[in-house]
Amino acid sequence: MTHPTTKALRFIRPDVQAMHAYAVQHSVGMVKLDAMENPFTLSPELQAQLGARLGAVAVNRYPGARIDDLKHALAKYVDLPAGLGLMLGNGSDELISLLSQACAVPGSQERAKVVAPEPGFVMYGMSAQLQGLQYIPVPLQADFELDEAAMSAAIAQHEPAIVYIAYPNNPTANLWDVDTIRRLITQVSAYGGWVVMDEAYQPFSSKSWLDEIRQHPAANAHVLLMRTLSKFGLAGIRLGYMIAPTALINEIDKLRPPYNVSVLNAECALFALEHAEVFAQQAAVIRTEREALFKALQHMAGVTPYASEANMMVLRFHGNTDTDSEAANRAFEVLKAHKVLVKNVSKIHPLLANCLRLTIGTPEENTLLLAALQAALSSSKA
Ligand SMILES: *Cc1c(COP(=O)(O)O)cnc(C)c1O
Repeated sequence: MTHPTTKALRFIRPDVQAMHAYAVQHSVGMVKLDAMENPFTLSPELQAQLGARLGAVAVNRYPGARIDDLKHALAKYVDLPAGLGLMLGNGSDELISLLSQACAVPGSQERAKVVAPEPGFVMYGMSAQLQGLQYIPVPLQADFELDEAAMSAAIAQHEPAIVYIAYPNNPTANLWDVDTIRRLITQVSAYGGWVVMDEAYQPFSSKSWLDEIRQHPAANAHVLLMRTLSKFGLAGIRLGYMIAPTALINEIDKLRPPYNVSVLNAECALFALEHAEVFAQQAAVIRTEREALFKALQHMAGVTPYASEANMMVLRFHGNTDTDSEAANRAFEVLKAHKVLVKNVSKIHPLLANCLRLTIGTPEENTLLLAALQAALSSSKA
């Protein structure tokens, strides 16, 4: 006998049924260094102030004028250049979906295309696939730099509607060469495509493409710059924003579900922007910790850290032999046994063989991490 729900799945897309659900690792009781969250919480005073603010919000009403207040506060925070607009998303993830929707023409013979370097952020490909766009990943070079020739060739061949550049990239945490990106933007703009500069890690980065846009607005007329408050310190509230020429924002904003940002999210984000210096201070601590961790790891035998412009770092484990492909898996398990949770990226892309990705934590967490890594590296030699 077939299970009664089998028939109820009949109309679910086969490709959706074949998908795996986004896996969130079990993390209770762990040092949580797997998801690029800010490890710092608000002080008790700020928590109390925020609580009072949220308590007073009119939750009986649909989101209204407060959303505009938040847009204005963000525009001020980034010093929005003239001629550009700003829209909000329920996390950048939603903005990525809206971009795919904006380009996907239902029933069209010719599918719009998306190009992105890989390894990269999974949502670019996933969102493209779900909206029926053709996704074309282009491998990075072995040192995680952009392969300009390959990117340029893919763009020339496919004329993608969207090219994603995460700046810095996730998971590799590096910034790519500015001149290379400029040339790719010129190439994409020439036929009317868009380049999305995804700056999820901007608080930890030495550069922002917004400065480039300010200096060369005409050359960046096809650039959409995306940011999020997630890595800034508010992953729980789900707030992303996108900056682009007003005419472009006006079109994409038509696709936004009317009340996509809740009044509680908006009030919390406004509160955070009023205390931006608290979050800037936290980001400064994380950047300092990142450099200390990098130095400590450079001196550890059996592992190589990659320099980072974000609040994460990729480590490559060397293993016992040239063909030892399990060194990162073993290290991951030892770290887990020491209650340190990181992300095992060793099997997600060939360029990340034997790699783990970790989030930069508090000084205390990073001390625990280093001790656990020492244990992992000495046990793998045995
Ligand atoms: C985390 C991340 C995002 C998603 O951010 P949300 O606002 O939490 O949806 C977008 N892009 C990159 C590259 C990320 O790493």
